[in-house]
Amino acid sequence: MKLLLFDIDGTLVWTGGAGREATRLAMLEVFGTSGTLDTHTFGGKTDWLTLVETLGKSEGEIGGHMPNYDMVMGRHILHIIGDYPVAPCPGGLELIERLRQRDDVVLGLVTGNVQRGAGVKLAAAGYDPTDFVVGAYGNERMQRDHLPELAVARAEELTGHRFAPRDVWVIGDTAADASCARVINATMVGVKTGYGPSPQEIAACNPDYLLNDLTEFWDVVRL
Ligand SMILES: [Mg+2]
Repeated sequence: MKLLLFDIDGTLVWTGGAGREATRLAMLEVFGTSGTLDTHTFGGKTDWLTLVETLGKSEGEIGGHMPNYDMVMGRHILHIIGDYPVAPCPGGLELIERLRQRDDVVLGLVTGNVQRGAGVKLAAAGYDPTDFVVGAYGNERMQRDHLPELAVARAEELTGHRFAPRDVWVIGDTAADASCARVINATMVGVKTGYGPSPQEIAACNPDYLLNDLTEFWDVVRL
C-alpha cells in the first residue's frame, strides 16, 4: 500500500492568477489590507505563511484568524475562478484517474492552500476533490514541513494501515515540497510544471524522480 500526497498549484493545477486575486480579496475582507501581496512569491508556502510574511505578523497572531480566513478565501475563489484561465497541468487528470482505480494506492493532498480553496481549485481544473481521501492544508500549519505527518496520520486512521516512510510519496513542484518530503523521509517526485524559478529549484533538490510533467509519470516512476 502506498500513500501519494499531491501538491496542487503548479503540480496538478495552473490557476492563471485566480489564487493571487482571491488571496487579495480575502485579505482585504479579513485584515483590511493586502499588505505586501503584490510583490509576494508564493513558491510552495502555506497560506498561513503567506499571511505572516505579507502582513508582518507573528505565527500566533495569524493562526487565530485561519478558520475564518479559510471560509472567506473559499468563498472569494469560488466566486472569481470562472473568470480565470484555470487548467489541469499536463497529464494530471489522466494520472489521478488511473491511480484512483488502484486498490494499493491511497490518494491525498499536501498543499499550502487553505482547505476550502484547495477543493475549489481542483474542481475548476476538472478533478474530483473527493478522489483525494485525506489531506493536510495551509490553514492547519504555518510550515509546510509539518503538513505531511498530519496527512499520514489521517491516512493511517482512515485505512488502518501503517505506511512505511518510503511508501509515502510527495509529488510537488517546489523546493518546499522537497523539504517537507525529507522531513518524513518520503519518496519525492518533482515535477517541472511550477511557476518562476520552481523547475530549476526542484531539479536542484535531487528528488527521487524528476518529471518534466505528469505525462511522464508511468515512464519514469516505478510504483
Ligand atoms: Mg506547488
